Amino acid sequence: MSDPGFEARDSAIAGLGLFATRSFTRGERIAPYQGRTTTTLPSHHDATHQVYALEIIPGVWLDGSPTTNPGRYANHSCAPNAELIWESQSAEAWIVAADPIQAGQEVTFDYGFSLAESLFHPCRCGAAECVGRIIAAPLRPQLRRHLRFSRPRD
Ligand SMILES: [Zn+2]
Repeated sequence: MSDPGFEARDSAIAGLGLFATRSFTRGERIAPYQGRTTTTLPSHHDATHQVYALEIIPGVWLDGSPTTNPGRYANHSCAPNAELIWESQSAEAWIVAADPIQAGQEVTFDYGFSLAESLFHPCRCGAAECVGRIIAAPLRPQLRRHLRFSRPRD
């Protein structure tokens, strides 16, 4: 069998992670994100409370929870090297390299969680800029304010 260019194996971030088995250039497709579309938001699927749903358009989600979906193994990082992209022309979702990626590197993307979602999803990505929660990059300043605001006074 030919090497698909990626594999799922133990990750220091969480559970299984998606790892490149060859190098990828910026913009190159790494792994498909496969699932079925649904108009109800898929809920937490298993004991790890992982969420495997991509909102394609408002009110329509791609449920990527099947274990046959290679893309579901990609972890979130606060300093991601890839993006999850919906290609409307082909109606396919792909994890695409946002930076050059070397063989052996873990492939991560920004899960884009809301402030509310982030409160239930700690982040252990290990990046220098990690905010400690899985939250969309544009919302990170809000999270910092929120955490500061909610800190008990002494
Ligand atoms: Zn992080």
